[in-house]
Parts: sequence; C-alpha cells; structure tokens
Amino acid sequence: MSNVSMKEIVNLCQNRWFVFQGSEIYGWLANAWDYGPYGSLLKENIKNLWIKEFVQKRDDMMLQDAAILMNSQVWVASGHVWGFSDPLIDDKNTKERFRADKLLEELISEMWDKASTLQDKYWVSNLVPESWSLEKQTEVMRWESVKNPNTWESWDWTDAKKFNLMFKTHQWVTDDTGAEIFLRPETAQGIFVNFANILRSSRRKIPFGVAQVGKAFRNEITPGNFIFRTREFEQMEIEYFCEPGKDLETHAQWKQACREFLLDTLKIKEENLRFRDHEADELSHYSNATTDIEYMFPFGWWELWGIADRTDFDLKAHMKESKQDLSYFDPVNNKKYIPYVIEPSVGLTRLFLVTLIDSYTIEQKWEETRNYLKLDPKIAPIKVWVLPVVKKISDIAKPIFKQLAEDFVCEYDDVWSVGKRYARFDEIGTPFCVTIDSENYDAWKVTVRYRDSMEQELIEISKLNEFIRVRLK
Ligand code: ATP
Repeated sequence: MSNVSMKEIVNLCQNRWFVFQGSEIYGWLANAWDYGPYGSLLKENIKNLWIKEFVQKRDDMMLQDAAILMNSQVWVASGHVWGFSDPLIDDKNTKERFRADKLLEELISEMWDKASTLQDKYWVSNLVPESWSLEKQTEVMRWESVKNPNTWESWDWTDAKKFNLMFKTHQWVTDDTGAEIFLRPETAQGIFVNFANILRSSRRKIPFGVAQVGKAFRNEITPGNFIFRTREFEQMEIEYFCEPGKDLETHAQWKQACREFLLDTLKIKEENLRFRDHEADELSHYSNATTDIEYMFPFGWWELWGIADRTDFDLKAHMKESKQDLSYFDPVNNKKYIPYVIEPSVGLTRLFLVTLIDSYTIEQKWEETRNYLKLDPKIAPIKVWVLPVVKKISDIAKPIFKQLAEDFVCEYDDVWSVGKRYARFDEIGTPFCVTIDSENYDAWKVTVRYRDSMEQELIEISKLNEFIRVRLK
C-alpha cells in the first residue's frame, strides 16, 4: 500500500502546477479542477500511451472522436434517461446530501468486520444495497440508525429518492423553443451509434474494436477525494465487437491487456491493484461478466477500470430505437448476427491520480528527506531539465536546450542553486537533468543526472539526444 496521504498529493499538485482549483480568483467552483502546465502534459502522455498500446500497436483497433452533444434519443435508447440515477438521501438537520447506497455499503463493511463466524460473514457479503429498492434503502438507513458520516451525531433522513446524473441543457431550435439535450455521461454511446458507419467505411471483419477518449459529465451527488470523482472528467473507452459465444474468452483477453498496460506500460505497483469479478447478483441484467480493476487509494480500494461484457444489449437497443439495421454479416460463416461487445472503460483523470499516488516516493538519504515522483520516463511531464551552473553561460546553454527540445519536452532553468533546482525537478518526476558548465563544455561534454539514483555521467553533446532517446524507450 502507498503511504502517501491525499493531503500530500493535493499539495504537490497545487504547489507544483499539476492541478489547480477551477475558477480560483472567483472563490472557486466546487469540484472543478484545472490542469496546469505539468498536469496537462502528464495527462496527455497517459492518453497517448493508451492510444499507442490499444490502437497503434494492434491491427484490430481504430480510434474515433464523437461529439459531446448527441441526439437525445441516444440516451433514451441507452437507458440513461430512465435509469442513470443514484439514490440520494438528505440529512434534514444539516441539509447535507449523500448517496444512500454508499452509506449502506459502509455500514455493511462494518458489519463484515464485526461478524465472528464464517456463516455470518457469508450472510453479510451477500448484502448488495445497490440492488435494493428505494423503500428498502430508506427503511434500513432508519432501522440501523445510520449516522451522518460528517457529524457522527445528527441524523434525520428523508426518504431516498432517485436522482438522474445527466446534465441537461437546451439547444435552440427556433427563437423561443429549445430542445432538451444532455452533456454525455460517457463516451461509449458515440461508438455504438457509429457502428454502421464504421463497418461501412472500414470494411473491418469481426472481431474489431473502436477506442475513444473524451470528456464526460455526471452530476454526481457526492463528488470528492480531489480528482477521484468529479462532475466533469475524461474517459478512455473501448468497444470491442465479437461473435456471440466468444464474449467470455474475449473478456478474459481484455482483462489481461488492461493488466499489462497498468503493470508493464505504466509500471503501477502490482500490490496496489486487484481484479474483482462481479458476482451474479451484482451483474447488470444484460452482462455476462464484469470485472472491476480496483486500486488501493489512500482512502481505500476503489474502482479504477471497469471491463464489462455487455453482450448485444447496446446495439439491440439502438436498433430498436433508431429502426436502423446494426447487425453484421459474417462472410466466413455466412451468417448474420448482432455482435456482442466487451467494454474496457477507464477514467483518464482517475488514472492520472493513480500514477501520482503510485509514484510518490519519500526517501531518506544522507540525513535528508527526499520527495520525488518515480514516474515512468514515458509519462513524465518534462523529460529533460537543462540547467547552466551559472546564469551567465546562457550563450552556451541555450543552444543545448534547443538541440534537446527538437526531440523532447524540456525546460530551461537558471534560477537558484543547482541542488535546489535538482530537488524541484525530482519533485515533478523529471527523469534526466542536463547540467552545463564551462569546463566540461570546452571538452564538448555535459553532465547528465538521473532522478532515481542521483548518479551523474559525462556525455558528449553530439550524442546527447540519442543517449536520452534510448533511455526513454
Ligand atoms: P464509480 O462507481 O466510481 O462511480 P462507475 O461504475 O459509475 O464508477 P463507469 O460508468 O463504469 O463508472 O465508468 C467507467 C470509468 O470512468 C470508471 O471506472 C472511472 O475510472 C471513470 N469514472 C466514472 N465516473 C467518474 C467520475 N465521476 N469522476 C472521474 N472518473 C469517473
């Protein structure tokens, strides 16, 4: 488990230009976050690696970018207009709002801890508040005297109500009439509605998949834990279409692919991850299998990535609502069917948070404490920091910065002592520093310092770019 606290992560993000509070000069907008210079680069690098691994390096995947605003019928067909809601409950005394199912989950986890026999533990583990009616959730909240988690004193619960999580807006049709539309709560539906277009234009044979990255919006009842749960966030989603009956093996392959991405590409620590297969009573009615990849956040195990076998539910629903044919003719077996789909869906901003927590390192060295981000060099926001030992040699240092900036995202810094500058670069996870001094420059050399070991090496200027390129792979 990572020993870092959320407070340390939030401080790092705000002090080192990763993430700022949104609309800060106007007293902020709660739960809105702006990504600063290093945050934007880190987010972009994670996204590009995801595209590289899941699209560029495979011959069965394509990328698309659908609009955020879609015809409202899309959300009727997908079930979001009627079903995309959470049970909310208010404490009448404090006027605070909570998700009833989450409060009940906490109660159940306390009950599980207290259960002394295997039989009791088994009984408790079968309680799934998410699947209970609103009446049952209200009744249990009151019967068990569930406390307000913020005050631990007062609680006087209203009845649980359904609260649709989609943000509504209006698109003007004429001067005074507006059609109600929604900000998309997920990117996935943009892939289903384009299924026929993609089939026609790409002439792909099943199995194949489509990937999409983009913003999604959910009017969450209880956003929080910094950027973990926000109302505006980015998702990276895949819909992988396969033949009915091959869905379970395809689901297993995607579990493996996502595992490799987290462990081998992003180098997330294995002990901080767990794969949780949904039990039959947790599965959605249309799903044959669903796995949540959970991460051990400083506030507990929570979902990072969901991998769902959604069968033919979505394509069928859109066929019915749009009255368009979304079936596939398989030329090999000479048969027509509606493909099944596997959906690996991960929040880019949630994965961003995971990379920071997982790489946050505190080291005791020479009686000094060193904090740094042990980010994989591939996702580090700045790859090389260029620093002249003294300001006045900028005439020789600036051309070296230019030479490196041709190939890598670099920064130039000539303020403060070299030691202080190193500490700052380490803190944001810069894997290499290139230090320039007149003496070595006369021999056409510079010093390269490594973030993790802090070791230094003299390198010829003419070989510098290649030296770093090899180490970034
Ligand atoms: P959660 O239970 O955490 O609300 P979910 O099961 O509703 O998530 P999905 O609808 O499966 O999530 O969305 C897929 C992924 O999108 C999640 O695994 C998560 O990484 C990300 N995600 C979902 N909601 C949010 C949010 N409000 N803020 C940030 N990321 C989110």
